[in-house]
Amino acid sequence: MVKTKSIHPYASGKIVVPGEKLCVVEEFMASEGTYEVNGEVRALRVGVVLYDYFSRKVRVLYPGKRAFTPKQGNIIKGKIVSVGDDTAFVKIMEIEGVKPLSGFFTGLIHVSQISTNYIKNVEEAFKLGDIIRARVLTSWPPYQLSTKYPGTGVVLAFCSNCRSPLWLKNGLLICPECNSREKRRISPKYILKL
Ligand SMILES: [Zn+2]
Repeated sequence: MVKTKSIHPYASGKIVVPGEKLCVVEEFMASEGTYEVNGEVRALRVGVVLYDYFSRKVRVLYPGKRAFTPKQGNIIKGKIVSVGDDTAFVKIMEIEGVKPLSGFFTGLIHVSQISTNYIKNVEEAFKLGDIIRARVLTSWPPYQLSTKYPGTGVVLAFCSNCRSPLWLKNGLLICPECNSREKRRISPKYILKL
């Protein structure tokens, strides 16, 4: 089961005021629009706070810059940046229909959220560098994602041997360079089709 909370203490998108405590440095490092004092990170200006769980940085953007953050039900495109036994981490690069995104956000997919079929290990479905299309399940970070929905899954994958983009043919991913054949949780919207 994916553990979720209804209220997250570090939700991006809140308006903060100068001097407001955002977190301690062990949680997120100070970055744009913030400063550090006595091990705490505080807001340098009035703005929208953004916590990035992958870079472990917190930023405060000018309020004029509208903050687009992932919301439940959004469809995102992102890159697989880490693969564990039961969880993959995703760098969210785009929310479909919402542009521009206010910086990068981190999402994660639990193995139980990959497919409607049984998947034992994340490695069976995703590999590092794959570009996926996924649905957002939670409106607070770290964003829980799912590729169980129609049209979701890997939209671009790269060869494990030579890193060439893989082409989809008869349900299999084939490397045109080294002829390697690979499997993924493939989206019907896979970009390279033969
Ligand atoms: Zn190859």
